[in-house]
Formats: sequence, structure tokens, C-alpha cells
Amino acid sequence: MKTMTHIVPFEAGDGFLCNLVHVQGPDVPTRGPVLLIHGAGVRANLFRAPVETTLVDYLLARGHDVWLENWRASIDLRPNLWTLDEAAVFDHPYAVRKVVAETGFDRIKAVIHCQGSTSFTISALAGLVPQVDVVVSNAVSLHPVVPEITKFKISASVPVLKRLTPYLNPQWCLHAPTLTAKAVAALIRLTHHECHNPVCKGVSFTFGTGFPTLWSHANLNDDTHEWIKQEFAQVPVRFFEQMVQCISHGHLVAANRRPELPADFVAQEPQTNARFAFFAGVNNRCFLPESQRRSFDFFDGWHKGYHSLHLIPNYGHLDIFIGKDASRDVFPKIAEELERAA
Ligand SMILES: [Zn+2]
Repeated sequence: MKTMTHIVPFEAGDGFLCNLVHVQGPDVPTRGPVLLIHGAGVRANLFRAPVETTLVDYLLARGHDVWLENWRASIDLRPNLWTLDEAAVFDHPYAVRKVVAETGFDRIKAVIHCQGSTSFTISALAGLVPQVDVVVSNAVSLHPVVPEITKFKISASVPVLKRLTPYLNPQWCLHAPTLTAKAVAALIRLTHHECHNPVCKGVSFTFGTGFPTLWSHANLNDDTHEWIKQEFAQVPVRFFEQMVQCISHGHLVAANRRPELPADFVAQEPQTNARFAFFAGVNNRCFLPESQRRSFDFFDGWHKGYHSLHLIPNYGHLDIFIGKDASRDVFPKIAEELERAA
């Protein structure tokens, strides 16, 4: 689809500079705004892989007004040692307010992925995004559950890594600027033989345990497999440290106590009226589908029959959005949730 993009900068609550990418199709939107939020070590462009129909195209064609948020984990922004709680308090509420101000709609919807989803779920349960009435969450939200091998790998490696480097970066497999980077790249070369794309392998190493971890090669077209090379970069080890804590607690925990957030994220009813649609690829090896099942059960426990859970067969973590056939297998389900009457 022929589209025009317009970058709208916004200042997060602590002054960090983020931006929104407003994508417009050939027609004037007939529905309200949808905010799409990427995960860790990627950027807003994540939703625009070189496939025939991206989620952005799909939503534009159905009349949605599409906004992509580059929050502080974005590789397009200044590298920083972000945490989920900082994003929850400072980025997403300000992004939502900016979309509301720019569009004049007082209610918006959100599609949130991975660490964009965990951090946004914290915003929602803390009552910081009351303007959002429907949330489509992919992969993980409140309860990160990973394979046992990943639990072992991340718990063992993070204490060592944090003394060596502030960031991990899949780009090191193309260009390793430091000794640590060279050592990590060598380790990846030794252990990953699933394809000939160094960044694809670096991503698998960085985000868990799998060959690959975030998609199945069969679900990607060749252009997308190549495109991955420039779409992944730095992730702070500090974030992995927080994730180790979250995994061992069985639910998200804050890296630092903040007055805007509850002390225990799962000790009270979420302070949001948003209807959540939890999506998980059945083959997700980064966060197991059990992650979303637990979060659905938690939300359903507070508001019976209101939220929904979608387990998508033959899909994993990110091929939900960048898969060559996702526009046939996944996007109709996302659109249905966004468009369902309250
Ligand atoms: Zn690959």
C-alpha cells in the first residue's frame, strides 16, 4: 500500500525524547487511532517488514488511524539503560496523551508486543493510560514464563555480562567493536548453525534459546530474513537483570520502587477498563504461551468473560507480525478484537 509517514516527537515524563510515527494511507481514516508498540532492541519499523501486507497496511485498509511508538527501548533513539517501570511511567502514558491530542479522539486502542507489552501492561494496571479501551497484547504481558533452559542461561549469564558490558547487541555478529563483543560473536558462531544470517543468529542468542528463537524460518520470506539484519540492535543488560527477577517471581516486578506504580503488580485489581486480547504463538520459544494464559486468567479473574485469549498455531514470537502469511493467519483476529463493540 502507498503510505506517507510523519514523525511526531514527544517528550516522555522524565524528558527523554521519543517519537510517534504516524502512517497514513491513501484514504482518510474511518475509525479511531491505534497505537502499535514494539519490543526490546528493535524499533517502530518492526511492524513494517517487507511482506505483501504488513499489519500497518492491513489496519489502514480497514480504516484505522495507525500510530507507531518509538519508546526508550527503540534502537532509533539514544541508547539508554531503560527499565520496564521507566517505560510504563514515563513513555506510554505520554505517547497515549500525544495521540489523543493530535487526533482529537479521547479513546484509543493499542497493539503491544513483548517488552512493549509488559511495560504497557504495567501502565494499564497502574491506571496511567485510562484513554485506552482495547489492548491487543502479543507474547507476554504480566507473567513471563520462559523455557527451563533459558531460565538457566539468563540467570547464569546476566551477573557475568553486567560486569563486562552495559548492552548486548545482535549487530556484534556483523561488527564487534570490543573484546566482549568479539567473544559473544564467537560464541554465537560456535553454537548457531541454523542459517547464514549473522544477525538472525545473534537475535536468537540474545532473546533466549532457539534455532531460531523468535520465528520459524518457514514463516519468513527471504526479504524479511535479510531485513532483520538492520532491525535489531542494543538491549541493556539492566533490562535482562529485571527480567531475571520477573521470571523468578512468576510475574513482572519493578526494577525500582516508584510512587506511580503499585508495590506488587498482581496484588490488586488492574486499574483499567481496557478489554485485553492476549495473543500467543503456540510455538513461541522466547516466552512460552503459558505466559499469556496466566495473564488472561489473572485479568479474567477480576472481570469474568470480558477479556480473550488467542493461541495461534504454527506461529512463534515475532512471526505473528512479520510472517509472510500473518495477514491471512493473524491480522484478521487482531482487527476483529480492535473492532469488536464494547
Ligand atoms: Zn535465520
